[in-house]
Amino acid sequence: MNRVAFVAIASILTQRKVQLQSTGDSRHIHYKLKSREEHLADALLNEYDVIIVGGGATGAGVSLACANRGLKSIVLESQDYASGASSKSTKLVHGGVRYMQQVFQLSEKNRLEKLQLVAEALRERSNFLSMCSYLTQDFPTLIPCTNLFDLGYYYFGSLIYHCVYLYYQTGGHTFKPPRIVGKEEIQQHFKFAKCNYGVIYYDGQFNDARMVQELLVTSSLKGQNMANYVEVKGLLKNEQNKITGVQAFDKIGQKQFQIKGKCVVNATGGWADNLRLMDDPTVSKRIVSVAGSHLTMPQKYGSHQWGYLIPKTNDGRVLYLLPWLGNIIMGTTERKLDNAISDPTVSKEEYRWLLQSFCDEFAIDASEVAKDVKSKWCGVRPLVYQSNALSTKEVSRTHEIEVSKSGLVSVMGGKWTIFRLMGEQAVDKVQGLIGNNQKRLENLPKLVGDWTQFDNKKEIQDMMKMFNLPQTYAAYFLTTYGDRAYDVLKLVHEKPENKESLHPQFPHTVGEILYQIRYEQARKPEDILFRRTRLGFLDQNAIFNVYEKVFQIMAKELKWPEKFQKEFLKENFEYIRKLEF
Ligand SMILES: Cc1cc2nc3c(=O)[nH]c(=O)nc-3n(C[C@H](O)[C@H](O)[C@H](O)COP(=O)(O)OP(=O)(O)OC[C@H]3O[C@@H](n4cnc5c(N)ncnc54)[C@H](O)[C@@H]3O)c2cc1C
Repeated sequence: MNRVAFVAIASILTQRKVQLQSTGDSRHIHYKLKSREEHLADALLNEYDVIIVGGGATGAGVSLACANRGLKSIVLESQDYASGASSKSTKLVHGGVRYMQQVFQLSEKNRLEKLQLVAEALRERSNFLSMCSYLTQDFPTLIPCTNLFDLGYYYFGSLIYHCVYLYYQTGGHTFKPPRIVGKEEIQQHFKFAKCNYGVIYYDGQFNDARMVQELLVTSSLKGQNMANYVEVKGLLKNEQNKITGVQAFDKIGQKQFQIKGKCVVNATGGWADNLRLMDDPTVSKRIVSVAGSHLTMPQKYGSHQWGYLIPKTNDGRVLYLLPWLGNIIMGTTERKLDNAISDPTVSKEEYRWLLQSFCDEFAIDASEVAKDVKSKWCGVRPLVYQSNALSTKEVSRTHEIEVSKSGLVSVMGGKWTIFRLMGEQAVDKVQGLIGNNQKRLENLPKLVGDWTQFDNKKEIQDMMKMFNLPQTYAAYFLTTYGDRAYDVLKLVHEKPENKESLHPQFPHTVGEILYQIRYEQARKPEDILFRRTRLGFLDQNAIFNVYEKVFQIMAKELKWPEKFQKEFLKENFEYIRKLEF
């Protein structure tokens, strides 16, 4: 039996095993997930078809595409999953109204390229939402208008955006057409709004870091491996200078080891040039790192249902105010960096610009608003450089897949919305290199545990009854973990101490943190505070309150030696302190 057939059958059996674990009620399946240590033990025994370097949106997309085509892969992530750009996005699943606008600008030289970019992303927008319904939603965004010329301009612009979507859509989630709204309706959502009318258009939204986690869980249940805190330090090559594996370093176990693979995919985002240079020191750099910052505000500054797009701020950039997990996020800026930095911080200038642009739009006092800022974060957008670009606004958001002579497949640029497409295209290249020809799936793969095909209200009510939860908490678990919510809550209810709440304003408990350590590879408090839960993005004061508790849970569960605990507590607390206002 050839290897591909073997992996495909193993993958089917793994899924079958999942089905067999179902309890009496066929809806509530127990998902048997491996620990980080089990994944690493597999890594030493296996020879992989594909080694994926980087555990962000791109790496997770490649992993899922491998799983769906019967290839055996491992994702190696040097920090935590989604700790790069993939947890720090604006959380939009979109075609990009800004690029649509550029298509019609007289000065625009790459009209066709921009249109293709929007069309491709709009098609993927539908795919994204239908693949992962429980983590995503469509939502209306208001473009405020102060005169009839603007109203006509933005309405027809949004209509063309919608028509491009209708023309290129190949299935998946459907979006409503744009519409014009009057002052009364606007005031119901934005009490500070000054405009008399506006245009509503629709896009998608999601929980980015959780999405990486859910994609990896799906891949893992389909037989793929993954380990965080494993840095790729070198590439192994044979006498013909072809890649045969990687030299890796486990930062938790402090061990150096080799992993064998037929092909390596470089999904390292802003760090892509490092791996390209490791492969061939003569290549020229292609990545431009552009930092983007956001602020989190309380809901009183916006709407819990509508987004608000300021189409032109004082420097010509757009600014979004978006409802997200009970708060409003405001962003983004664009600041060119010399290199990709692991944890870039929001600069004073960006902070001021964000606040001032918001206050100018609504004519409110910036010093008052500043007191209410709940969190701030900054991410690095990995753009692919074209020599004719004059500014970062002009560096294309398109993606490129490069195959080196030794067989390194580098996936560069792009955006979250098109992660699935980038994954499929990267695996097309991989197949060319390793001589496999299994076709892409005809139907869109659903995430494991997608319950939204069932009656949503009933699902939430069942969960409320079964675990004695308020409605908002039941909704939180189902929209965060999909069907795995039952496994999480069973662990919460296993012992009385697991029910202990971390913070009175959030649904997180000791049991949920234990689940994230055991089955989602959380290994540092920041993994829990920023990416498994989104506390750090929602309320930075809350993380100072819960930090020590989370640390203690991890120290006990992971059996950290006492000496190590002291050093680690200090090092990690300093990391968290850096975020203080
Ligand atoms: C401010 C901002 C807002 C954005 N908003 C949106 C949006 O609303 N919608 C949208 O569609 N897109 C958005 N994007 C773009 C999107 O977030 C990125 O395109 C996407 O997250 C990139 O994913 P990635 O996996 O390529 O990179 P990353 O998420 O950065 O992942 C790369 C990973 O590689 C790891 N790595 C690096 N070197 C090594 C090594 N040697 N060994 C192992 N691992 C390594 C890193 O630790 C990192 O985790 C936004 C980006 C930014 C910065």
